[in-house]
Amino acid sequence: MSILELENVHSYYGKSHILFDLSLYVEKGEVVGLIGRNGAGKTTTLKSIIGIVPPRSGKVKFNGENIARQPSFKIARKGLGYVPEDRRVFSDLTVYENLEIMTTLNKGRSSKWTIERIFDTFPRLGDLRGMSGMGLSGGEQQMLTIARSLMANPELLLLDEPTEGLAPMIIQEIQKLIRSLRQDVTILLAEQNLTFVLELIDRGLIIDQGRIVYSGTPEELRNNAEIKEKYLGI
Ligand code: ATP
Repeated sequence: MSILELENVHSYYGKSHILFDLSLYVEKGEVVGLIGRNGAGKTTTLKSIIGIVPPRSGKVKFNGENIARQPSFKIARKGLGYVPEDRRVFSDLTVYENLEIMTTLNKGRSSKWTIERIFDTFPRLGDLRGMSGMGLSGGEQQMLTIARSLMANPELLLLDEPTEGLAPMIIQEIQKLIRSLRQDVTILLAEQNLTFVLELIDRGLIIDQGRIVYSGTPEELRNNAEIKEKYLGI
């Protein structure tokens, strides 16, 4: 059984039909890329999974259970973590407090992620533990939002465009970080930056106009000039 399965999902914003009959799966332990241009439907797919944009029809199965149209907080508690593209850190709390607040929310549930383990995995956050969220660079905020979502001990992490607006050096650091997480958590990674995802993923799905139009290994994707040009404009 796949950890995540979307079956024939249709999602809307009001009357705008955005996702069309979208099906995909993610196996436990995989890193899967959801790749597409601006406006292709990546964010809407992640929001449909986590329940922010509940699909109007179709199924979203997490460990076999259909979670479509359940409230987001319930979905999150089942072990789904979501890192939105806007990196909302608490700007008036320190790095440490941003993480600590998650342990409060997790009260009574065990997590393999402690703040100490987070600082081992993200040494840069350890160095910045006393810094307020406001003082962090874009890359550091991205690390903190990923770290914070890990504190809830997700089985599956949905990452929305983690490299957006970041400098190449920082992108490499985020890449290293995501690679180090793969032994602990399954990842569905939405991105437009093909070079970045190809280094990380086991499988890539291309989304265009709310439909999955291609699926392949990184190798297949790298070598398919036609698909890259048609759907990614590169
Ligand atoms: P981006 O990189 O811009 O985030 P994306 O692939 O994540 O791109 P989505 O954000 O899922 O794309 O957008 C898919 C489509 O849905 C676009 O046509 C967009 O204009 C539309 N859309 C997104 N949010 C809304 C909204 N709140 N109301 C109406 N339409 C929306």
